[in-house]
Amino acid sequence: MPPVIWYPLQLKKIIQDTDTTWRFLFDLQSDDVFNYSAGQFLTCDLPTGEKRAQRWRSYSIANANQKNNEIEFCISHKPGGIASDYFFHNIKIGDTIKCKGPEGTFVLPKNNDLNLFLICTGTGIAPFRGMLQEMQTNGHSFQSVNLIFGTRKQADLIYGDDISKWNSELMNFNSHICLSRQLIEITNYPEGSTYYHGYVHEAYKLILKDKIHPKESYLFMLCGWAEMIDQAVITLFSELGFSREQIRFELYG
Ligand SMILES: Cc1cc2nc3c(=O)[nH]c(=O)nc-3n(C[C@H](O)[C@H](O)[C@H](O)COP(=O)(O)OP(=O)(O)OC[C@H]3O[C@@H](n4cnc5c(N)ncnc54)[C@H](O)[C@@H]3O)c2cc1C
Repeated sequence: MPPVIWYPLQLKKIIQDTDTTWRFLFDLQSDDVFNYSAGQFLTCDLPTGEKRAQRWRSYSIANANQKNNEIEFCISHKPGGIASDYFFHNIKIGDTIKCKGPEGTFVLPKNNDLNLFLICTGTGIAPFRGMLQEMQTNGHSFQSVNLIFGTRKQADLIYGDDISKWNSELMNFNSHICLSRQLIEITNYPEGSTYYHGYVHEAYKLILKDKIHPKESYLFMLCGWAEMIDQAVITLFSELGFSREQIRFELYG
């Protein structure tokens, strides 16, 4: 095995998208172009303790590879969480942390002849943002792409401008915003999305009720925390009868 390379990541900008989710834009310092596939993640070694369990945290890369060594993370604040406290209270513009990677196989499938469901909650949108940016730059030939994005309220929604853009510019793309703690009547942003009051599971079940494509043409990619992913796997596999191979996920914890 080749030796692990730790790259310096220098913080360039913080965008405070919502009260609890911020975007961190870094410059990965290397003489070479840093290559990765949209959807992969990096593992950071943070100055947050002595032991590996206190220091190492993984984050999905939230931007497509523009071959300019820019890396974006979107991180939610978990009060009392060692790493997220560091990102929200300690790190400053110009600071450098170490990261290794890229890692992970949660990337766009090679088979383009699919109906793709990208299902996420909160910062689980990060790998999909990279994938959708890539589709926007290079085009895609999936039969359809459905983003199903769950947050509590509209105020918690991240990447709304990107979603509006994908709604109008990306071929065969639809986005579905699920607000679990807000009624949908007062919602009109992102423009062009369909809104639901409830959890992501109700939304994709409703969309799939009218499905017109052969069952084997569907691929479900899930990203986020265990509660959502466990429920989605049960619903898609046990209730709706899709096969295990049609369900892929990136579990945050
Ligand atoms: C492959 C991978 C990619 C990841 N990508 C991201 C990402 O893009 N953005 C991101 O914010 N996190 C991401 N994570 C999670 C991240 O690595 C940390 O676990 C997270 O930042 C919390 O770390 P902490 O030290 O603040 O909290 P800890 O002290 O480690 O966490 C305490 C507990 O709270 C749980 N927890 C923490 N945050 C949340 C939350 N928001 N919702 C529900 N439970 C939570 C953890 O599972 C743990 O049980 C990813 C994890 C993996 C494995």
